Amino acid sequence: MSSNDTIFGRILRGEIPCDQVYADDLCLAFRDIQPQAPVHLLVIPREPLVSLAEAGEEHQALLGHLLLVAARVARQEGLQAWRTVLNTGAEAGQAVFHLHVHVIGGRPLDWPPG
Ligand code: AMP
Repeated sequence: MSSNDTIFGRILRGEIPCDQVYADDLCLAFRDIQPQAPVHLLVIPREPLVSLAEAGEEHQALLGHLLLVAARVARQEGLQAWRTVLNTGAEAGQAVFHLHVHVIGGRPLDWPPG
């Protein structure tokens, strides 16, 4: 299954704009359009991977890279504490079926999440 046809695929292809905070050969990071906290970023792979459920051994390095970029952009935003979230599947809150790491911070965050 491909995730080329999602809103994030369109952002990657430059068809719609985003508020970009970081980019490299493997991924793009930008501000969430409906932020849930003062800082709410999304880190997405350029590769059209649907979710963590579709990831295989061949994605090991990419997934590690996405987490390192998540930490990098969190620090770039001045955060000392933040939450990284990957919603996997509609029942878990995934609405866009192109893998993305949420980076959320800038306010106290409750646990457990809803
Ligand atoms: P999820 O519910 O985990 O699939 O998260 C999808 C996220 O994408 C939500 O937080 C949305 O607010 C965000 N989102 C949807 N469309 C855009 C967009 N065009 N630019 C930035 N963020 C978006």
